[in-house]
This record gives sequence, C-alpha cells and structure tokens, in this order.
Amino acid sequence: MRLLAHVLDGLRCSVCHTENALWMDLAAGLVECRECGQSALIVTDGGRTA
Ligand SMILES: [Zn+2]
Repeated sequence: MRLLAHVLDGLRCSVCHTENALWMDLAAGLVECRECGQSALIVTDGGRTA
C-alpha cells in the first residue's frame, strides 16, 4: 500500500501552533493539520493546476 500523505516535520500550524501536526496529501495537493483540521493548498513554483 502506497502512502500518499507525508508528515511535514519541523513545521508548525499557523492556526493552533502545534508542531509536527501538519501532513501533506500528495494526491490532493494540500496540507492539513491533524490537530485543528486546518487545511491549505500548496503553492508550488510551477503554479500549474492539474
Ligand atoms: Zn492546527
């Protein structure tokens, strides 16, 4: 089974300020905090939309 979620070590949630609670959903291209549920789209250098 392939994991599509990747924990972002060393990052802090800007909403609840919990460290290492953010994970990146590679399939959906977004980051979500597992503590408060806050999510945000990832802005990449390419700026392309799928
Ligand atoms: Zn949070």
